[in-house]
Amino acid sequence: MDQIVLKNVTKRFTTKTLGTVTAVDNINLTVREGECFSFLGPSGCGKTTILRMIAGFEDLSEGEIHLCGQPVSLKDKNLYVPPEERGLGMVFQAFAVWPHMDIFTNVAFPLQVKKAPKAEIRDRVAEALRHTNLSGMEKVYPSELSGGQQQRIALARAIVTNPKVMLLDEPLSNLDPKLRESMRFEIKALQKKFNFTIIFVTHDQSEAMALSDRMMVMDMGKIVQIDTPRNLYNKPQNRFVHSFLGQSSFIKVVVKDGKVYPKNDPATEIPCAPPEGRSGEMLLATRPNSISLNREKGFPTKIEKRIFLTDCTEYLVLVGDDVVKIQTPHRNSFRQGEECRIDIAAPMWYDADDGISEEERNRRQLI
Ligand code: ADP
Ligand code: MG
Repeated sequence: MDQIVLKNVTKRFTTKTLGTVTAVDNINLTVREGECFSFLGPSGCGKTTILRMIAGFEDLSEGEIHLCGQPVSLKDKNLYVPPEERGLGMVFQAFAVWPHMDIFTNVAFPLQVKKAPKAEIRDRVAEALRHTNLSGMEKVYPSELSGGQQQRIALARAIVTNPKVMLLDEPLSNLDPKLRESMRFEIKALQKKFNFTIIFVTHDQSEAMALSDRMMVMDMGKIVQIDTPRNLYNKPQNRFVHSFLGQSSFIKVVVKDGKVYPKNDPATEIPCAPPEGRSGEMLLATRPNSISLNREKGFPTKIEKRIFLTDCTEYLVLVGDDVVKIQTPHRNSFRQGEECRIDIAAPMWYDADDGISEEERNRRQLI
């Protein structure tokens, strides 16, 4: 079943200083029942605004939102269902727990709003605490706990009403990396147990890849690409998605007579399969782990820099005037300054000009 449907959803904000900003620009989206679906994109691209519209905290400038087959926001018909009647659980980035209330009161709150019977509140809170490893801590105050535990309280409070849909807005971004990783598994385990659909908002691509069935990459209020993590990584539609998921190097090239040359070194061929049916200036995109660094085969260059990382050795080489990053196992060793060859296994091709100005690229911190 389609559980969350957005049709032509647009949100504009008008402020004194900035005038009118289109934060969300004509989004069409369907999230299926039981899916873990991520919104991924740079800061300011509209992720939180979409989530707040789904939750009912923000009205729409245009469009419709349906949850579980029921309309909850219809701009045209002026229909608007308030947040507490939408059947959602929510966890936000800032630890949104009440520091002056103990854990029991924090977690019981959504049930108290619904005026649930006392015995039911007690049982449900106990179960929510059990599933978030907080049993026995009913009387503890959030201020006495670590960030990870506080986010667990927020999770417990989100699952206590047994929601069908869980909205998570960067719930792990204030936690340290080890804790983030273990909380990812906890969220997945909770989903399995309670069977809710998740929308997970993050700007952290590895987190999104680890959790999601499908992901939506956004930029400037628009959808750029929706697909599985694997397809987004392997077949990014444009340079923006390529550079946003995983590490990327881009080489400006010229394709001529079925051969590929660096744009600024047109005498030396880059031996690789050319893009089908294309010629002229293009952009060749590659990943650090899909390049073979060797002494026999490929484009001749030399090691500009060698960096010893925990799990691999990273090398930087030049192709034309573009820096290309390569990662190899430690045993594959080259010296700084040594001549070498690089063989690009699976190049991806994009238009040389993607229509984004240098200024815009810097502003959005694109490579
Ligand atoms: P993200 O969550 O992807 O970082 P947001 O959805 O928070 O992005 O913001 C999208 C855009 O909308 C930004 O340009 C932001 O400044 C603007 N925006 C968000 N909320 C408001 C608001 N209440 N008033 C004015 N502008 C807003
Ligand atoms: Mg946000």
